Amino acid sequence: MKFDKKENIFLFSVDLEDVRLRVNDGLRYKPSVEKLTEEYLDFLNLYKAKATFFTVGDIPKHYPDLIKTITAEGHEIACHSNKHIPVTRQSEEEFRDDLQRNMDNLYNAGAKELIGYRAPTYSITKDTEWAFGVLTDLGFKYSSSVLPAKNPLYGWKEFGEDPRKMNTDLWEIPVSLREGRFFKVPFSGGVYFRFLPFYFIKKSFNFHYNKNRAITSYFHPYDIDTEQEKFMHPEINDNWIYNKLMYFNRKGVYPRLHKIMDIFNPSIITYKSYIELLNEGK
Ligand SMILES: [Zn+2]
Repeated sequence: MKFDKKENIFLFSVDLEDVRLRVNDGLRYKPSVEKLTEEYLDFLNLYKAKATFFTVGDIPKHYPDLIKTITAEGHEIACHSNKHIPVTRQSEEEFRDDLQRNMDNLYNAGAKELIGYRAPTYSITKDTEWAFGVLTDLGFKYSSSVLPAKNPLYGWKEFGEDPRKMNTDLWEIPVSLREGRFFKVPFSGGVYFRFLPFYFIKKSFNFHYNKNRAITSYFHPYDIDTEQEKFMHPEINDNWIYNKLMYFNRKGVYPRLHKIMDIFNPSIITYKSYIELLNEGK
């Protein structure tokens, strides 16, 4: 299938991870990643869409058939680190080892060609720019790891909001940000997609499509898990308000996604297909 960049492109993606594995004694909670992934696959099938699944290396250990299920339907598997440690907390050596393990685990589970990477919590910043060199060494062709705004966690404001070639072989495709001069936050994934009023989300899709930009996204299994037990999520500094947001409006994700599909009729394509368009200069 051929795509034209002039169409509305929605780079729907899932950060495929199991939060239970990052909380104390987490395995006592119900496993749900397999079921939730199947739900995402059903959503994608409904629109005859192909998406990218940025997958953490410990997923195949707990869900051995999942990688094959996803690839069998023509979606892309990409890397999302082995242990979900932010790049800013690793040395170059540790980053390389972790990523190599991530790749080995995914290849052993049936992944075909790993050319894409997303850093945990968008943690490539000006200070960890060296990560692009490691990614190139390991054969990656794109990364989607930069949040191009000032942000309490990570963020690289000066990066700019368009995809950029970091060297001859590697694209960085930063996460899409909400329209507006203030509150430059993501809008098309995770907690923001559930929490922001739909009006802002719609406006931001419109804003970027008018500029002929593809919209990137990141959804997690937990974003649609309406039956998950209550526990403190990892990587939010035990902040109970933020933890409430982690559970906020999970049932609203599909209705919102269907509305986006109705209003903008975007083509959902993999990041891999998208960088082919970028390389063709479209
Ligand atoms: Zn993640």
